[in-house]
Amino acid sequence: MYCPYCRNPDSRVVDSRLADDGSAIRRRRQCPHCGRRFSTVETTSLSVVKRSGASEPFSRSKIINGVRKACQGRPVTEDDLALLAQEVEENIRASGVAEIDAHEVGLAILEPLRRLDQIAYLRFASVYRGFESLEDFEEAIDALRRQNEDAGRVPTGAQRPLTAR
Ligand SMILES: [Zn+2]
Repeated sequence: MYCPYCRNPDSRVVDSRLADDGSAIRRRRQCPHCGRRFSTVETTSLSVVKRSGASEPFSRSKIINGVRKACQGRPVTEDDLALLAQEVEENIRASGVAEIDAHEVGLAILEPLRRLDQIAYLRFASVYRGFESLEDFEEAIDALRRQNEDAGRVPTGAQRPLTAR
């Protein structure tokens, strides 16, 4: 890798450490030519295959942009969205795949989004699970009610794993 300062084609690793809960390695490098230091991040490559068949690198910012619309007017912060995107990426990486359909990325967003905000979840689910009728909404709302009742039996503080970290 070229030194970003002087374009010297060689660099020396001075430190390596795990980042993002072990899904990435951050390396501190030093250029032997100019002596300056820079960092690189190494992750397994994860591609998203779009409906057209084209693939592109997985991107957290795309997740955030996709979810932001569903969160309009809801009490969801940028930090919440960043954590959600991180969780989605970690879940997908933990499944060990190197490639995933864009549609499956949408489905992987559903569960963390449900825990974050139920209205945003319903909006998002109506698109990604292809709700076609009021019955589809009713079914999803019934499922949420049942989950809420279950959550009601859990001690306070254990209900929002996203913010508990
Ligand atoms: Zn250099």
